[in-house]
Amino acid sequence: MKIFLIYGGKSAEHDISILTAYSITQEVYYQYYEIEPVYITRDGQWVKGPVIHQADKLRNAESLRLSVGKEAVFAQKDQESSIGVLIEPSSIKSEDAVIFPALHGPNGEDGTVQGLFEVLGMPYVGAGVLASAVGMDKIVSKQLFQQAGLPQVPYVPVPKRYWLHQREDVYNRCEGTLIYPMFVKPANLGSSVGISKAENREELTEAINLAFQYDRRVIVEQGLQEAREIEVAVLGNDDIHTSVPGELVKSVEFYDYESKYINNDVRMQIPATLSEETTEKIREYAVRAFQAIDGSGLSRCDFFVTSNSEIFINEVNTMPGFTQFSMYPSLWKQTGLSYGDLIEELIQLALRRAEERS
Ligand code: ADP
Ligand code: MG
Ligand code: MG
Repeated sequence: MKIFLIYGGKSAEHDISILTAYSITQEVYYQYYEIEPVYITRDGQWVKGPVIHQADKLRNAESLRLSVGKEAVFAQKDQESSIGVLIEPSSIKSEDAVIFPALHGPNGEDGTVQGLFEVLGMPYVGAGVLASAVGMDKIVSKQLFQQAGLPQVPYVPVPKRYWLHQREDVYNRCEGTLIYPMFVKPANLGSSVGISKAENREELTEAINLAFQYDRRVIVEQGLQEAREIEVAVLGNDDIHTSVPGELVKSVEFYDYESKYINNDVRMQIPATLSEETTEKIREYAVRAFQAIDGSGLSRCDFFVTSNSEIFINEVNTMPGFTQFSMYPSLWKQTGLSYGDLIEELIQLALRRAEERS
């Protein structure tokens, strides 16, 4: 069987996706699968057959020259090399292949490419269209978590027209429901892009304006002071398994894009040091959150735990970071499932879901 390993993509997590794809090629069971890499450029073009061991070249490429049906060439300093052939996304349709979308963020983790795979009738790893879209939307997922009775911080959704035409109402609602500091986020994004913390009305205004550069809807949340960040890995379709919880131990106060991907200001503590009661509750909440968004395949459920052991769900990521060193595979490793076996399980889950639906 063939695996179309799709990576890169238009989102801010382009680079981490390349690293994920590279990790997968190192660990996939080659006796069962042949890997067919498909690279999505930063501007959204699909290139079949790039050599992933040149991942660093892809990351650092200064320019990528593309022409349909012809070779994709990328230039680096004075060197030029071919990385594959430009294709139409729909041309990956195949009878004996499964898709592994190693993509994060908008256009990869949000139901859009999942919709394409559904139209092509191909099995694919990870969440379906609905769960992907919902998981990426911080407003809709909060509404579903609320219905599922999951504890979360108070929040105020701010659609653009509300901000443009009833600004005083927005201030009144935010300041009436929440206390500073508040966290302001674009509804649909990941990797901390467009997120900021506001300590007063002036900063709130700036933060909302910034978030609106990324989306038409913004969410303002109650900020938590000194909350620990605890994450649980979820795996399964109907039969749902959870890992031990892990903690992101920060040396910065707010886990922003820089600290996540550039400075590496975080350390993972697995398992997290938590009471048995808190651990059990978090694992149970993770399953309920996964079910609330109609998850399948995998998800990483992220929580906040305060100093008096209050638990709040933050978000569900349907395609979490997936290099050997990322939190999700590390959580499974510590729970007794190796990276290679995890990849195999995800492929089996993809095939089973496709079979059940056909
Ligand atoms: P993303 O989907 O981009 O990861 P998050 O909602 O997880 O967005 O926010 C990014 C980071 O911002 C979190 O990991 C945490 O460090 C901080 N953060 C987000 N919301 C809050 C909050 N309500 N209170 C305190 N810190 C927060
Ligand atoms: Mg996220
Ligand atoms: Mg997050």
